[in-house]
Amino acid sequence: MKPTHSPLFNTGLLINGEWCASSDNTRFAVTNPATGDVIHEVADATPADATRAINAAAQAQPLWAAKTALERSNLLRRWFALLQEHQEPLAQLLTLEQGKPLAEARGEIAYGASYLEWFAEEAKRIYGDVIAPPENDKRILVTKQAVGVVATITPWNFPNAMLARKLAPALAAGCTVVAKPAAETPFSALALGYLALQAGIPAGVINILPSTRAQQIGEELTSNPRVQKISFTGSTAVGKQLIAQSASTVKHITLELGGNAPFLVFDDADLDAAVAGAMLSKFRNAGQTCVCANRFYVQEGIYETFTDKLAIAMEQLKIGNGSDEAVTLGPLISARAQEKVGALLEDALNRGARIRYQAKMDAELSAGYFFPPTLLVDVPTEARLSCEEIFGPVAALIRFSTEEQAIQLANDSEYGLAAYAFTKNSARIKRLSDELQTGMLGINTGVISNAMAPFGGIKQSGFGREGSRYGLDDYLNIKYTCESFS
Ligand code: NAP
Repeated sequence: MKPTHSPLFNTGLLINGEWCASSDNTRFAVTNPATGDVIHEVADATPADATRAINAAAQAQPLWAAKTALERSNLLRRWFALLQEHQEPLAQLLTLEQGKPLAEARGEIAYGASYLEWFAEEAKRIYGDVIAPPENDKRILVTKQAVGVVATITPWNFPNAMLARKLAPALAAGCTVVAKPAAETPFSALALGYLALQAGIPAGVINILPSTRAQQIGEELTSNPRVQKISFTGSTAVGKQLIAQSASTVKHITLELGGNAPFLVFDDADLDAAVAGAMLSKFRNAGQTCVCANRFYVQEGIYETFTDKLAIAMEQLKIGNGSDEAVTLGPLISARAQEKVGALLEDALNRGARIRYQAKMDAELSAGYFFPPTLLVDVPTEARLSCEEIFGPVAALIRFSTEEQAIQLANDSEYGLAAYAFTKNSARIKRLSDELQTGMLGINTGVISNAMAPFGGIKQSGFGREGSRYGLDDYLNIKYTCESFS
């Protein structure tokens, strides 16, 4: 069955359990980045729709929070089972609107589902405390309560998983949600909403608003006093704006923002493992992940060998439409993204970097937003792509001589999301773990994301954590009750 003929495919706003048109009856077209073809139109939410969705979420919230933890857990688990059951059509839909290869799309559905499973369990483990009081006739109780209505804003690079990673802890904690997915990829979000309803999650608990009016919707979500929390994944620039907008109503905020991950390869590293890690970390999702290796720092003794091995591995990438099973590298999300990566590459070349390898692309790919995988060597540290997120399949190699220099280069960034290092020296691993300024560190691995681990950044990469037992804290208020028995 074509993804657009599946019951998972919906084109309305999801408000209070119903699929509806936008208040001004407008729609927008969503395109396939591999072909430039329009997939379908979808309702274009207005700020009035956002208000309606917030009201629905506010009405549903006390009823949802009043369910027992076990009831919420069972519903999350049923939703998880439905995602697993529909992994293939969900993956096909994801590839259609986002472009990533099918194998990666299947992986994303499993990854998104894993958060539903994890938080179905964690829902039952929201513990409080009884604390020793200053007087014997008193008792200090600490309990945890859902923060209330949560507004989520998510990007296009993981349209299923970034939303699932927020919905799962929010619902586990007893919160209800108004979600604005990225305009480029609304269908995967709507499919998640459809399956939530099928699982029996009550109307109003999850509301989903595709929209091209991000700024206006964002203003309503951040200023409406019925929304108690904003959870945002996206660029640092928009994150800063949302902090400012949320100030007037003093909202809880979780921000998963941009990254600029350093990838350090030391002379003593297992180079084959380092190349395998580099390929996964750099080229997954065509280089469009927040934890993608952005700057490769390679020690001088193995610089040439590592470069040769990486070039050979890159030659194996098969570029094309992600719906072709043989393809391992899909398109970028848009023409704008293509232009941005092109400009960063040009800037590096103008400053003296050299192309060591660049894939040739078939003419038939010109209708899509493809970018050739490119290996750049001798990249100067002042090149824009050393300081900005590349978000494309360009690997930028920089040579270093000492560990101290590598750490200093790695930390020389306003971001602090992920970092990677390949070395066999355990004392060095300890030093790297202590000194690298990052929220997440992969040692001898290029893959660090999973539901059991706390995902998140420091510095201008944001605050708050998603996944793990810490992930629930972001959706809970601590309440202290003082009981007197005198
Ligand atoms: P973006 O422009 O910040 O967009 C992200 C989301 O914010 C989209 O839903 C977008 O809607 C919305 N948005 C844009 N402007 C807004 C505004 N003024 N008010 C309210 N919402 C607004 O980011 P992007 O470039 O699409 O996504 C890539 C970024 O996300 C990268 O920086 C990447 O590192 C980051 N990211 C971080 C993580 C993490 O966990 N740290 C994970 C994935 C991605 P429209 O699509 O309608 O514009």
